[in-house]
Amino acid sequence: MRETLVVGAGIAGLVVARELVLQGHRVRVLEAVERAGGQLLRKTIAGIPLDAGAEAFATRGGTVRAYLERLGIADRIVAPLDAPAWLHARTGTTVPLPAVSLLGIPSAPLAEDVVAVVGRRAAWRGMADALLPGPVGAKSATLGELVRRRMGDGILEQLVAPVVEGIHSKHPDELPVSVAPGLVHHLLRENSLARAVMRLRTDAPAGSLVAGLDGGMGLLVDTLLAELDRYGVPIEHGVRVAEVHPDRVVLAVDPDADGDLEAEGEVREGLVVVAAPGLVDPVGGRAATRTATHLMTLVIEAGTDAARALAENPRGTGVLVARGTDVTARALTHVSAKWAWVRRAAAGREVVRLSYESPPSVETARRDAELLLGVSIPATAVAAAEATTWLRAGRVEVDPGILITGEQVAGTGLASVIDHAHRLAETIGAPDSETAAGRGTDPVERTAS
Ligand SMILES: Cc1cc2nc3c(=O)[nH]c(=O)nc-3n(C[C@H](O)[C@H](O)[C@H](O)COP(=O)(O)OP(=O)(O)OC[C@H]3O[C@@H](n4cnc5c(N)ncnc54)[C@H](O)[C@@H]3O)c2cc1C
Repeated sequence: MRETLVVGAGIAGLVVARELVLQGHRVRVLEAVERAGGQLLRKTIAGIPLDAGAEAFATRGGTVRAYLERLGIADRIVAPLDAPAWLHARTGTTVPLPAVSLLGIPSAPLAEDVVAVVGRRAAWRGMADALLPGPVGAKSATLGELVRRRMGDGILEQLVAPVVEGIHSKHPDELPVSVAPGLVHHLLRENSLARAVMRLRTDAPAGSLVAGLDGGMGLLVDTLLAELDRYGVPIEHGVRVAEVHPDRVVLAVDPDADGDLEAEGEVREGLVVVAAPGLVDPVGGRAATRTATHLMTLVIEAGTDAARALAENPRGTGVLVARGTDVTARALTHVSAKWAWVRRAAAGREVVRLSYESPPSVETARRDAELLLGVSIPATAVAAAEATTWLRAGRVEVDPGILITGEQVAGTGLASVIDHAHRLAETIGAPDSETAAGRGTDPVERTAS
């Protein structure tokens, strides 16, 4: 039987590899770097094991829970602190986010917690949504256009943009409305965006919109690696693929590891499944833009006034930041307040993680943390600081001639990525039905429709 070559050992690659081996494929994973997991990464900082990439998953649709049940680790699912995140508004004040909202879109534009962020004038403009016919904005190409047309610029820029940028690292004008599944459908039924938000929030299953794993999302990578090991799937590390075809890959030859390929490399034959970004030409030839996210994690020493103040008065799970303020961080997660397992592991220390568009110094992160959390954090109270940089490729439309999965086609987030990888493997099916997966249309799109 010919091999099935999975390119990339991020979460998409690991899921698709596991599902294909269970279907009877002889699977081999090719991974460019020395570790697996991609954007899921555990880093131990000051002795505390922490997620340095994704730290949670969306609970919508129950797809991730169902998959964790398959893996036998659903009993490790944990909910974050049940308190809203806060927002550092353009006015420089820091306030809790509106209680009932979706990606910052309020369900009651004139509520006091909305007025506190955007001011009364912008809140009144938001009320126009209730008077507009349902179809206004329903055909918007982006989430930004939809919110602007229904509720105005103030609510979009001061409330929705900071929340969306904190989650997706993109302005709502750069994201399709599908990032909020069901929103347009309910807008047309309710004739109001605010009521659509209310409907989506009340229809959502009880509990938080996100969940994590006790011990961190690294547990998911460990579990999948153990499964692949059990099923005898080799993962070759340090193997960078330069070129993909449906039935073979060409490896990169880059002895200086400087990114310049020096010759056409070895060819490996097999059924190719791509789970790494940038290898398949996008339709129209436009490469995805790459966005850098710079994280700085600070550990605050136990027993200090700063640690005590942070433990006693956390600002929810953290703070999102509107543009145009005195803070350069885009968001802060109060990790030890958000996750009980981190609080236990930190043993009296406090952990915060800030994200930036350009690399911050430790001093900048410390000052931003002080401003965002309203607590004095002297440099002497910072026990450890750790920087991590991520370079992420955006979503692209690719030529469907090649089997492909992962963030680049599924969209950002573990819920979308795991679901897509799982469904792609089901569509490919057993080795002798490989051809039934067909070529010429995206097999996952076909099963979904
Ligand atoms: C800081 C941060 C926080 C996040 N937080 C969350 C969150 O809380 N919740 C959530 O749901 N999502 C979150 N995400 C997004 C989520 O982590 C990703 O959507 C998901 O992990 C993407 O998985 P993937 O397998 O598609 O891609 P990746 O994880 O990027 O994996 C791709 C793999 O392919 C390998 N590769 C690349 N090129 C080649 C090549 N040429 N040859 C061989 N191998 C190659 C890479 O080394 C990598 O291992 C976060 C992301 C980041 C960076």
